[in-house]
Amino acid sequence: MLGDGKSVVLSFDDGPAPVSALESIVNTLKENEVKAEFYVLGQEVSRFPEAARMIVTRGHDIQNHSWSHPNLATAPERGVRRELERSQRIIEETTGMLPTKIRPPYGAGGFRGHIDPELARVARALSLTIVTWDIDTEDWKAPQGLGPEKIAYIEEQFAQQQRRVSFNVLMHVQAGTARDLPSFISQLRQWRFDIVEP
Ligand SMILES: [Zn+2]
Repeated sequence: MLGDGKSVVLSFDDGPAPVSALESIVNTLKENEVKAEFYVLGQEVSRFPEAARMIVTRGHDIQNHSWSHPNLATAPERGVRRELERSQRIIEETTGMLPTKIRPPYGAGGFRGHIDPELARVARALSLTIVTWDIDTEDWKAPQGLGPEKIAYIEEQFAQQQRRVSFNVLMHVQAGTARDLPSFISQLRQWRFDIVEP
């Protein structure tokens, strides 16, 4: 099977809002005994502090996805620093957890071989590891969620990376993903992937 001897980490970007989608996602994760990681936007944490705390109290990792979702690869270093620092500060103040990872919006400047030097400098200064993903679910594309056409594309991506044994699977905090998550987790387990903690 596709996932024999292999593991996945589930990760969710652009939270903590919408709150109803987040609540549904964390409930599904609990029912399936899965711990995930959430890359949140500082400006949403400031508006929805309770939702940010929910991520942490339910046992998931909260990580940095910038303050306002700019393209960090084209932003000047001062702007990158401001985006990441503000987000670090609000996440720590709100949840008590200080992020250790940054996933740059759009993956811009974060992929191996294309690391943006200014982003790398700022991340290093803030003790943040730059991460991207291995599987792009494209859950944000219409029709939003993890329907059959997305599953086919995800299966193809797993098959194309035969030598990789651990995968980070990118999703987003949104209604369609929340709706389809129970069946997606079942699918991953049918493929025999081990869903592990980040
Ligand atoms: Zn994003």
